[in-house]
Amino acid sequence: MTIRVGVFGAGGRMGSTVCRAVVADADLELVAAVDPHHAGLDLSSLAGPEVGDLQVAHDVDALSDAGAEVAVDFTHLEAARVNLAWLADAGIHAVVGTTGFDDDDLARFRAGFRRSNCVIAPNFAIGAILMMRLAADAAPYFETAEVIEYHHDNKVDAPSGTAMLTAERIAGASSDWADDPTRTTVVDGARGGQAYPGVRVHSVRMRGMVAHQEVLLGTTGQTLTIRHDSYDRTSFMPGVVLAAKAISGRPGVTVGLDGLLDL
Ligand code: NAP
Repeated sequence: MTIRVGVFGAGGRMGSTVCRAVVADADLELVAAVDPHHAGLDLSSLAGPEVGDLQVAHDVDALSDAGAEVAVDFTHLEAARVNLAWLADAGIHAVVGTTGFDDDDLARFRAGFRRSNCVIAPNFAIGAILMMRLAADAAPYFETAEVIEYHHDNKVDAPSGTAMLTAERIAGASSDWADDPTRTTVVDGARGGQAYPGVRVHSVRMRGMVAHQEVLLGTTGQTLTIRHDSYDRTSFMPGVVLAAKAISGRPGVTVGLDGLLDL
């Protein structure tokens, strides 16, 4: 039996890549593609001939009409908030890559997803998940930590969800950080943003890049740099496919892929 999958944001950079990944996986079946601004178009004109002859739908109802069991959402923050509330009501599992959610959002999702499950991961790339894990493991051995994230120049939110989750994990692993010596800041933002006490985050937006991050940890006489690079959006697809297959066995809301990878 294949798992019936619908994709929100099917016309977008990530959504169209997800459509191709779903079609390429023998255990998954692409049954609906939703993207209001591309509604009525043949999905193949947006995602390539391999996705078949599905038409892009305007409304979320396309998912229930098609009997989708799992929906994948790579859209924008406001759209994803609406989509997830609808999925929770409809009892359809949600695999969510959209970034920018805050604690209130997560609390709302935890309250809402009762009949179906939700996996939210700010980064579906295995290398990025390992980067976060390694950073947390290393944190107690250092006194200074900074996260620098680099993304393509169309990204609308900052810092990235990956950078925020990395900072949260580092801060969770150690609270023993040196004071920031900065007393004068000539240009606003020169020291980045303090995501968590002791952990600063810097966001670079650069044409030509996809998604990259460095975690810098320093102690006397030495630094450790942990770097991850996603050169192509296909880097996220094994994680998305894994989540789509595993989500039915993950009750409630799961944040991050670590649990699904047994890390
Ligand atoms: P994008 O190219 O702008 O794609 C988003 C798509 O969603 C667009 O086609 C957009 O249409 C469409 N959309 C807007 N409202 C919608 C709605 N209500 N229902 C369905 N579709 C809707 O953006 P992207 O680069 O693919 O990134 C999407 C999200 O994924 C961002 O939040 C990004 O940070 C995140 N991301 C996550 C990961 C991860 O591993 N978790 C990796 C990469 C990116 P319009 O453009 O016409 O509004």
